[in-house]
Amino acid sequence: MLPSFYDLTLAEFTDILLQRGLSKFSAAQIYDWVFKKNVRDPSLWTNVSKETRQWLSETYDFKLPKIVWQGLSVDGTRKFLVGFQDGQTVETVAIPARERLTLCISSQVGCAIGCTFCHTATQGLKRHLKAGEVVGQFLVVQDWLNQNGGEKLTNIVYMGQGEPLHNYENVKKATTIFLEPKGMGLGQRRITLSTSGLVPAIEKLIDFPPVNIAISLHAAHNEVRTELMPINKVYDLERLFKAIKTIPLKAHRRITYEYLLIDGLNDGERDIQGLIDLLPKSESKVNLIPFNEYPGSNYRRPSDKKIYWFMQQLESNGVTCTVRTTKGTDILAACGQLKSAYEGGELNLWSSPQQNPQSISSTSSQ
Ligand code: SF4
Repeated sequence: MLPSFYDLTLAEFTDILLQRGLSKFSAAQIYDWVFKKNVRDPSLWTNVSKETRQWLSETYDFKLPKIVWQGLSVDGTRKFLVGFQDGQTVETVAIPARERLTLCISSQVGCAIGCTFCHTATQGLKRHLKAGEVVGQFLVVQDWLNQNGGEKLTNIVYMGQGEPLHNYENVKKATTIFLEPKGMGLGQRRITLSTSGLVPAIEKLIDFPPVNIAISLHAAHNEVRTELMPINKVYDLERLFKAIKTIPLKAHRRITYEYLLIDGLNDGERDIQGLIDLLPKSESKVNLIPFNEYPGSNYRRPSDKKIYWFMQQLESNGVTCTVRTTKGTDILAACGQLKSAYEGGELNLWSSPQQNPQSISSTSSQ
């Protein structure tokens, strides 16, 4: 199997071309074809020599992952099941919000972190994704969108399956490729790296491209957080916040704290006070996420009244706060559900037009 071209940053590719006696300019031209013009067949690169095109097609694999299934929710969220060459699949979700179309991408097949509210946790960790497989999710979804209405992806969040910082080097490289001005050219503010709180990796973020950071907090007290996220046994709130202080924040940037609101577990007055005590106010924003119930889940979503009250209490104490509406509930939007349903054959139930008219199709874009 040839190495994937999408595993290469422009700096790495330039070094390879320089070693072959080719120029830095040629590397930029080729990168432009692949990542800006979205022309991935070397035979079509009119400003590149025939010899170089032939060598590249014999040396690198330019194939993208495949979309093995996709479905549209009534709220416009579109979920993709993306398949790789070894047959493994991950979920990738395109989420429209105002003028943005954000792609929620996966960083691992499965996950080792074991959060008790998360469906992916039940699958365990199968493997890390390579940088090119992370980048490939974006490219294959954008290609699909180009062929189906032409919407453009504008933002990326690493909030799909997997703990991105557990796959640090590949995610760092993929982020470098996303940001490359001569390639995809996404802005730093358009990418959000999310972590469950892997402290040793957070302490390395000084090396990471300066993108937005989101921390999955979900509780302001250790005993509750440990129940939700076993990682808290190893890296508790004290260690986590000590590590967060080491994150280099550009001026006017804030860290977003993701907080899953679960009925009766972390939605009371004590939790509000805990958050007020814990968060550095000027550098924090809390994103409240009402729990997205799935079949068999042990937790429940609080009432709208409770969610609103929780938000008001935080805001009135100077904590900036938003509530994320739950998207795509009719397409198994909780992380990991789609993959399980697909592997269990349940998606066949949805292919009936009577059950879900126009919104679900079982197609491949490749
Ligand atoms: S919530 Fe994220 S980190 Fe936790 S188990 Fe699920 S995929 Fe892993």
